[in-house]
Amino acid sequence: MNSLGPAAGGMRIRVGHLYPEYLNIYADRGNIAVLARRAALRGHELEVSAVTIGDEVRPGAHDLLYIGGGQDREQALIAPDLAAKGPAIAAAVEDGAALLAVCGGYQLLGRGYRGRHGDSMPGVGLFPHETVAGERRMIGDVLLESELVPGEPRTIAGFENHAGRTRLDAGAEPLGRVVAGFGNDGESGYEGARVGRAIGTYLHGPLLPRNPWLADWLLAQALAHASGGEPPELEPLPDRLEAEAHAVSARRARERGGRN
Ligand code: GLN
Repeated sequence: MNSLGPAAGGMRIRVGHLYPEYLNIYADRGNIAVLARRAALRGHELEVSAVTIGDEVRPGAHDLLYIGGGQDREQALIAPDLAAKGPAIAAAVEDGAALLAVCGGYQLLGRGYRGRHGDSMPGVGLFPHETVAGERRMIGDVLLESELVPGEPRTIAGFENHAGRTRLDAGAEPLGRVVAGFGNDGESGYEGARVGRAIGTYLHGPLLPRNPWLADWLLAQALAHASGGEPPELEPLPDRLEAEAHAVSARRARERGGRN
C-alpha cells in the first residue's frame, strides 16, 4: 500500500481481495498489480485489503472486489465461508461496487460447483450459472470478442485451464463470445458472465496485463462507486508492451484453429 495517499484530486480505490492466500494460481494476483499501477498513473491510489476466512464483507467498504482461481482442493476449503459472504457480496455489487472473478472464483460466484471428485461446493449465486467438472480439462490460449462497452466490440486474450463446464442460464449476459478456445463450457460459444459492474471469466495469464482496456473499464467502474458519480474517462496510457502481449496471446489462440 502506498502510504503517501492519492495525488491531489486523486481518489482512493478500496479493493477487497478475497482469499489471496488460497486462490492465486497463474499469478492471478498480477491483476491487482496492474490495477494499482494504472490507477497510480492517473493520480489514484489502490488500497488493497485481504478478505479471508472469517472476515466480514462490510457494507460500502469496497469499491472493487477481486477473487482469483484455484484448484478444486482450495476451492473446497473456502467455499462454505464464501457462500456465507454471498448476501454481502451480492449487496455490494447491487450497490455499484465493481468485481472481477477469475476461474475458480468465477465458478464459486455462481450457484455452485461440482468438482472433479464429485464434491458439491456451494456458490454465492451472484452469477446466473452452474458448473460441473468434466473429464477433459480445457486448456490453452483464448480469444474473445466482448461488447462490455455497448457498440464498441473489443477483444480479450488470455489463457484457460479448467475442468469445470459452466452453463449460463438462458438470457444471462456473458463477458464475450469465443473466437478461439473453449470458454465457459466448450459448446455454447460464450465466455464469462457479467452482472452490473461484476465480471467473471476463466481467463488467467493473468488477465489484465494483456487486456489494458478491461483493466481501465474496471478502474472506471470502481471510481464511479468511490465517487458516487459516473465512470470517468481515464487518460489513455501508451500501452505498447501491453498491445504486444495482447497480439502474441491473440495469435496463439487463433493458431488453435477456431473454436475448439
Ligand atoms: N478447479 C477448477 C477447475 O478445474 C478451477 C481451475 C482454475 O481456477 N484454474 O475447473
